[in-house]
Amino acid sequence: MAVERTLSIIKPDATARNLTGQINARFEAAELRIVAQKRIRMNREQADMFYAVHKERAFYGDLCEFMASGPVVVQVLEGEDAIARNRELMGDTNPANADEGTIRKDFGESIEANSVHGSDSPETAEWEIACFFSRIEIIG
Ligand code: ADP
Ligand code: MG
Repeated sequence: MAVERTLSIIKPDATARNLTGQINARFEAAELRIVAQKRIRMNREQADMFYAVHKERAFYGDLCEFMASGPVVVQVLEGEDAIARNRELMGDTNPANADEGTIRKDFGESIEANSVHGSDSPETAEWEIACFFSRIEIIG
């Protein structure tokens, strides 16, 4: 297995409930290192661009509105098999279907307001990281 980097976003529902530290503690306990991080508020254009892969889906407009509705914490996580391991820590997209002990099970409010985003492949991770971070902002 290789050391990978993945893009994580702590979504507006989680920042609103002051959960940044609790979510970051899950990553660190699982030996994922936070090698870049910033708190931002996306505007609607940025959210539309980030989620363009979903633009044909019925939930696209609502999702982009939600992601622009409050602060988010964007971050790069680094570790062995980081992309898949972060997806495991996150749990199923729908918190109701997520395994016990996952971030979405413990903190997610709904299938949309599910507290965290994580890249789903090496190609997406590379593109998503580049949406928010330049090379000198990522310090491993
Ligand atoms: P994941 O975040 O688990 O990779 P997707 O890439 O399929 O899931 O969807 C992106 C985001 O869109 C989800 O995290 C969630 O916030 C939202 N979403 C997905 N499916 C739905 C749905 N059926 N209704 C509302 N929002 C959804
Ligand atoms: Mg996805």
